[in-house]
Amino acid sequence: MQFVDLNAQHEDLAEELQAAMAAVIRDSAFVRGPHVDAFEANFARALGVRHCVSCANGTDALYIALRALGVGPGDEVITTAHSWIATSETITQTGARVVFNDTEPDYFCIDPVTIEDRITERTRGIVAVHLYGQPAAMGPILELARRRGLWVIEDCAQAHLASLDGRLVGTLGDVAAFSFYPGKNLGAMGDAGCLVTNRDDLAGFAALFARHGGKNDHVMEGINSRLDGLQAAILNVKLPCLAGWNKTRMRMAALYDAELATVPEVTVPAVRPGARHVYHLYVIRVPRRDELQKFLARRGIPTAINYPRALPHYPAYAYLGHGPESFPVAGGHAREILSLPMHPHLTEGDVVTVAAAIAEFFGQG
Ligand SMILES: *Cc1c(COP(=O)(O)O)cnc(C)c1O
Repeated sequence: MQFVDLNAQHEDLAEELQAAMAAVIRDSAFVRGPHVDAFEANFARALGVRHCVSCANGTDALYIALRALGVGPGDEVITTAHSWIATSETITQTGARVVFNDTEPDYFCIDPVTIEDRITERTRGIVAVHLYGQPAAMGPILELARRRGLWVIEDCAQAHLASLDGRLVGTLGDVAAFSFYPGKNLGAMGDAGCLVTNRDDLAGFAALFARHGGKNDHVMEGINSRLDGLQAAILNVKLPCLAGWNKTRMRMAALYDAELATVPEVTVPAVRPGARHVYHLYVIRVPRRDELQKFLARRGIPTAINYPRALPHYPAYAYLGHGPESFPVAGGHAREILSLPMHPHLTEGDVVTVAAAIAEFFGQG
């Protein structure tokens, strides 16, 4: 059993992928070009947004979005204490200060109730992460942002086609960042990313900034962050499969929920009312987490911890001076969370095997 099975995905699509890559080689369309243009149009259409600006990876997408919003030295940006470090390190890269907020007890996303306590006269905006594929509490976050004159960036790296009250994530805030790292719900065969927005000003800035500030006119200094043609062609093949793959993830999650219902030690992931959770990761909470992880590894069941600490508790953020007891929700989750195998080629048999092993560990099997 694999934690993420990319081989199975690529075997299914082998012919189309090979044809797509051959076309890129035939056209020598390696950087920018028609395959990249097609992917930007396809992904914008899939989300129903005006603009998709591709770039080299999801981390750059966040950085470019922040720069497009004018974030820089002296500014503060509020984000969640529980995410991959790309969410917060890009804030620091702009010269701004990252301000962490604790998470919700049930949904692992930024706690909308306490965000307001973090706002100062230097606060410019909020980066909300749809963690594990679950939409953040966008209703209250957007309401607060409107009331206090802040912008909202959505970090959608784990939430391709997730939705809240029927609206796709990535279309709710000012701008959203997506990653197509190979293991994401939509993955390339290397690094890839994009940002999406309905705001013409942000899309225009991003397209220039990501490409040295314009090809021959250099209206500003930018960076070099481009999606390459091979990755775009691969993503064009995979994009039509995304909705179906997400459905399988949801079906496997429902089966995990049912199979684990008999094990009282296990807290299965709760789904926010109105949300379509796309289960980039299926994350349970358990006592004796490290022992369980070792037990499962001995049975050949791979698991992961996403992530071992709350972001403010890593050495990278020691300068912020947060003690180990700060961020009690995110900090507590870091000790209890365990990500079970989850990918669109997982079988019902795999899920039953994993759940039975967990039940056995807790003496319920
Ligand atoms: C993967 C990820 C990113 C960064 O994407 P890359 O393409 O790896 O740079 C950002 N935020 C979150 C929450 C992620 O999971």
